[in-house]
Amino acid sequence: MRKKCDCGRSPSPYCVGWHALTHTEWQTKRIIYEAKLRADLLEQECKDAMYSDDKWTS
Ligand SMILES: [Zn+2]
Repeated sequence: MRKKCDCGRSPSPYCVGWHALTHTEWQTKRIIYEAKLRADLLEQECKDAMYSDDKWTS
C-alpha cells in the first residue's frame, strides 16, 4: 500500500521514494518527470488532432 508523502519531493500525493535522493538527483528526476508529462500531453493532443481529422474527412 502506498503512503502519503510528507517529504514534499513527490510529484504525486504519494511517496515515490524521492526523499532518499540527493538534491541533484531529485532535480534530475523531476525534470525528466515533467518532460514525460509534457510528452504525454503532446501525444494526446496529436491523437485528438488525428481524431478530428478523421471526423472531417469521413
Ligand atoms: Zn517521500
